[in-house]
Amino acid sequence: MSTLFIVATPIGNLQDFSPRAAEVLKSVDYIACEDTRTSGHLLQHFGIDKPTFAFHQHNEHRKVAHLLNILDANQDVALISDAGMPGISDPGFLAVRAAQNGGHTVSVIPGPDAATTALVASGLPCDRYVFEGFLPHKKGRQKRLGELSEEERTIIIYESPNRLLKLLGELEEHFEENRLAAVARELTKKFEEILRGTISELRTEFEQRDSIKGEIVVVVSGKGYSE
Ligand code: SAM
Repeated sequence: MSTLFIVATPIGNLQDFSPRAAEVLKSVDYIACEDTRTSGHLLQHFGIDKPTFAFHQHNEHRKVAHLLNILDANQDVALISDAGMPGISDPGFLAVRAAQNGGHTVSVIPGPDAATTALVASGLPCDRYVFEGFLPHKKGRQKRLGELSEEERTIIIYESPNRLLKLLGELEEHFEENRLAAVARELTKKFEEILRGTISELRTEFEQRDSIKGEIVVVVSGKGYSE
């Protein structure tokens, strides 16, 4: 029986990489990376020199078999993604399920993820929340937004910078005007920014900018919440 380690990596700040994560990556036989080049920088920085192979959303189904073959040959594998926690809007779930079904041990080395970092930074209630990840781009998007508008827990949405204004406009349409929200941008990085306000205040703020860059999480308060 072998072990599949799911190892969290920083979401921007290399100092958030835990000593235990480094230790585990140094101990395994193989490291499965979402992008071997991106992870190469991290591995080099921490002096980790292990065979790597690509494991991303486009080859995930095929590579699960490869990963299982390695585990079946009594070798340990660690899975890392480009940033944060594997499995959270990143490949991971299929590997965990396959390893468990194959009788192997799965061990998660916890660390940063953008969702809970943004949630806590938002100043909105953290006691009950839902993680939506990326909304569907086209089919089902409006229906999903309608469903989310009824949600009473705090909602966490991942969005790309070039679609932020579109999302804020849609939230304005589907949710009440004065619904409180926060936009967390570039978390843990040099230009980290957390903006808080009603959805329309946030849209107005970002509309006035020449460009919107960086990685973004939108946190929206649940229906009925007021301060
Ligand atoms: N596995 C990652 C995690 O644990 O959060 C998420 C990977 S997902 C492909 C990438 C998205 O996560 C980005 O589009 C953004 O919404 C969010 N994200 C990742 N890093 C971030 C950061 N430093 N600041 C804000 N959002 C971030």
